[in-house]
Amino acid sequence: MSVLSVDGTHLYGKYKGTLLVATSVDANFQDGLCVISDRHAGIIVAMSDANVGFHEPRAFHRFCVRHMASNLRTHVKNNKMRDRFKAAAYQRQGKKIDEDMRSIGQSCLQSLQYIMDVSFPRWSLFHGAGRRYGICTTNFLETFNNVFKGARFLPIMSLVELTFHRVNKYFNIRRDSSFSRRADGYAYSPKVTSILEKNNGKAEYHTVDVYSRQRGIYQVKTHRGERIGSKGGHKHTVNFNLRTCTCKKPMIFHLPCSHVLAMCLKYSISKEPWVDSFLRSEAYANTYVPQFWHIPCETTWRTYRGPKIIPDESMVRGHGRPKSKRI
Ligand SMILES: [Zn+2]
Repeated sequence: MSVLSVDGTHLYGKYKGTLLVATSVDANFQDGLCVISDRHAGIIVAMSDANVGFHEPRAFHRFCVRHMASNLRTHVKNNKMRDRFKAAAYQRQGKKIDEDMRSIGQSCLQSLQYIMDVSFPRWSLFHGAGRRYGICTTNFLETFNNVFKGARFLPIMSLVELTFHRVNKYFNIRRDSSFSRRADGYAYSPKVTSILEKNNGKAEYHTVDVYSRQRGIYQVKTHRGERIGSKGGHKHTVNFNLRTCTCKKPMIFHLPCSHVLAMCLKYSISKEPWVDSFLRSEAYANTYVPQFWHIPCETTWRTYRGPKIIPDESMVRGHGRPKSKRI
């Protein structure tokens, strides 16, 4: 998937610094060119530098909603404004964002000005043209936490070595599982399968009317059914030929919503064209085809003239200050 998340994590060892982490998202949303980052001036300059080549339509820059919400809170010292901004950022309906923005402006003009200084596509799911695949924050870097566990206390050489070995292990585990999933004939990654199952469950409570088979226009009405907390009674229009639904989910998440699935079920139409190729088993397995190669010992230490440092248990677990053994 072409989503790249960039975030920094502070180092705690003798040399203070920031470990810059860039992660992409795989077909199981674990990993993935849309760049999601905080509003660090260096990243903005790099993304807008024509010589770097990270410009639209080749690359799209989006901001992490969590970072932006947190900065808004610091700027206006108001938790409510932070939460209202987050709600607006996650809205999938244009009129709901308009309502949220109006409400923010009425309560705190300073917050509205702060948000309006950033263009809508940078932070709004609805205005983001689906480039985020529904990913609003850099939080998925947290799935990578085990890779960095305890590593931030280590001297640089040890940090690089430990991280290299852990990333290799991370890739091996996912290579095995994604390859066997593809071999077993599953069409999608586990996460995509579970989203589709959930949407199929909702689709059972929808009714569908066809308006034009030739133009691919269908109207879907939702019903409450036996589901707790579901209101129902909404109407959405699916355009099969343009691959759109008025709920906007197919455009944002690149997967069929329950309305599309209801139409597919009733008229025995395949849902396949609605599932993005990046979200299939084939893409999931292909993410992990490249492998890491071991670093020969002599090469590792040939240029290093200091004492050899071996990380002990306390360093790996990340408790307290690092202790190193000299040999
Ligand atoms: Zn829909």
